[in-house]
Amino acid sequence: MPALEDSIRFVKGIGPKKAALFEKLHIRTLRDALETYPRDYEDRTAITPIADIAEDGKYAVRAVVGTEPKTTHIRKGMTLVKCTIFDESGSLPVTYFNNSYAAALLRVGQEYVFYGRVQANGHTRMLVSPQSEKVSPDAEHPGRIVPVYPLTAGLTQRDMARVTEAALDAVPGDWPDPLPEVLRARYNLPDATDALVAIHRPQSAQDVKEARRRMVFEELFLLCCGLQQLKERRKADAGLVFSDTSLADFFAALPFSPTGAQHRAIEEIATDCASGRPMNRLVQGDVGSGKTIVAAALCALAAKSGYQAAFMAPTEILAAQHAETLAPLLEKLGISCTLLTGSMNAAQKRAALAAIESGAAQVVIGTHALIQQSVTFHRLGAVVADEQHRFGVAQRAALSAKGQTPHVLVMSATPIPRTLALILYGDLDVSVLDEVPPGRQPVETYAVGENMRRRITAFIDKQIREGGQVYVVCPLVEEGEMNLKSAEQHAIDLQKALPQRRVAVLHGRMKSAEKERVMQAFAAQEYDILVATTVIEVGVDVPNANLMVVEDADRFGLSQLHQLRGRVGRGTRQSYCIFFGADKGQTARERLKILCKTNDGFEVARADLSQRGPGDFFGRRQHGLPALHVADPIADLALMQSAREEAEQILQADPTLAGYPELRARVRRMFEERDDEAFN
Ligand code: ADP
Ligand code: MG
Repeated sequence: MPALEDSIRFVKGIGPKKAALFEKLHIRTLRDALETYPRDYEDRTAITPIADIAEDGKYAVRAVVGTEPKTTHIRKGMTLVKCTIFDESGSLPVTYFNNSYAAALLRVGQEYVFYGRVQANGHTRMLVSPQSEKVSPDAEHPGRIVPVYPLTAGLTQRDMARVTEAALDAVPGDWPDPLPEVLRARYNLPDATDALVAIHRPQSAQDVKEARRRMVFEELFLLCCGLQQLKERRKADAGLVFSDTSLADFFAALPFSPTGAQHRAIEEIATDCASGRPMNRLVQGDVGSGKTIVAAALCALAAKSGYQAAFMAPTEILAAQHAETLAPLLEKLGISCTLLTGSMNAAQKRAALAAIESGAAQVVIGTHALIQQSVTFHRLGAVVADEQHRFGVAQRAALSAKGQTPHVLVMSATPIPRTLALILYGDLDVSVLDEVPPGRQPVETYAVGENMRRRITAFIDKQIREGGQVYVVCPLVEEGEMNLKSAEQHAIDLQKALPQRRVAVLHGRMKSAEKERVMQAFAAQEYDILVATTVIEVGVDVPNANLMVVEDADRFGLSQLHQLRGRVGRGTRQSYCIFFGADKGQTARERLKILCKTNDGFEVARADLSQRGPGDFFGRRQHGLPALHVADPIADLALMQSAREEAEQILQADPTLAGYPELRARVRRMFEERDDEAFN
């Protein structure tokens, strides 16, 4: 009797060569195979009558072989086998290329279920190289649901079926189920063994659906249990207690009165810092909602209680800008502020490092440079990560490790619904800035085509004449993309069209000092137009800029365009955003129209999700969580919510899961798979 921990090398038909290929898919043992789920299923039980096949596509056809398969040799070494099959509704030619073996198995007069691609071309149709299975005369439900596994070159679905088959055979009769029975009953979920069998060897489409639902619930439940435990464990950690959390002087120093949402978030932070537990808080707010001063409040609180604060931004431009706005504010409160970035010269760096080490630098603003080994803090008490999706969890953890359990604040403009944020960042507390500062007018947004080019150029000119400034954003152009212009080319063309205006270019290949200089000069109104790649996407704040033109906007994701748009509409001047690309087909036009209709980041994100699919959304942005194999936190949101409530309940009664050994082991394994230390 094989065991689940056995190597797949012992499965019949799998030699060392194939085993090496399986390794590529991270399948070494039978258990690995068991946990590699199909990425899709072919439903060969849904039989289509031949007469109903009108379009190209994959079909299952139940038909009898009518003519003897005939082989012709077309070119050297190439064979073509043809025959005709028929059912009650009509007949269909079948061809096999270079596979006389498959054809040789067919018998005239015998009924099969054929499954394969039909090529339809006007009135001629042809079933190409189908797979076939004999139908016995008394079969009521011929055809199968066939799992389709992820593969790698050299492996076939057949190889995969072999090892999963062997793995299922190795599942012991008393296979433990990590899901408590009460939950299975409450949510009507099949047990672990039944679900596994249904996933790998389904009898019906319904089987697959129920099994998948169980797997999703299980995965989310394990995730929620793990996150909840982390959260509880953190609560048990001792946190720094900030002795002075009064905020009156901070609020008095602000050049404006905070919004209600900012006020609330800052109060929450002050409470956290006095609680005796380490703060771990996410501030989530749409672009322009004013996250920076919320972070500034934390920095001020740390300094007042004799601690240092580190504020990490994802780009040099952003770090410099934060330093520029925060330094005067903090200095009013008698707090010193130091910048540390990779592009500073050696002398500047040395001075900054010394100030950080001695504690003379109370608030340190910087880039990744902050987490380098050479940086030693005197007494780090608070850590801020701005635009947190730009950082790996490990980087955030590395910054925290420079102090002893400092209070941590992460900020994100990724607009996901609050319920989802709570779940995704399950180990964090969340403050939402759901209010924009007063006096903002919504950005007027238009989607246009090339035919508007001259009018838009004139509009750019007009905005500058009236005292405004303009961003022109271009997508990154990869080599060989002939029909797209680079930022440099756009700048040259624009300068030609508007010779009296001052045009600057900013792109990723420039040295950071040069980028910095250009950005500063633009902010100081030494340029009228800044032509840039998306380096300005995050955070840049030049309130006088009131027009943004995005070239080839169809090449950007909707949420990204929304972020870009957030660069204007920051002052009191009416602001505009113009997207070129509306003439690139209906889909492009419809996508861009969504942005013309709403200025609300949540709505944009929702539309973005429904158009691109969550896989893409979550694939690109690592949220620092264990990888999910079956669940999709957006599509499965309802189950996610239940899983979270149940996890909370179970852990409340049994914090260490002592009564649920299998559940405990599985949660541990799930979180062990992580390759960074943030969850330790
Ligand atoms: P975010 O980082 O959330 O995108 P910022 O913190 O950069 O937003 O703030 C955007 C702009 O709004 C900045 O120019 C900032 O000075 C301004 N601002 C922030 N809060 C307020 C407020 N309560 N009243 C007026 N202006 C504000
Ligand atoms: Mg910001």
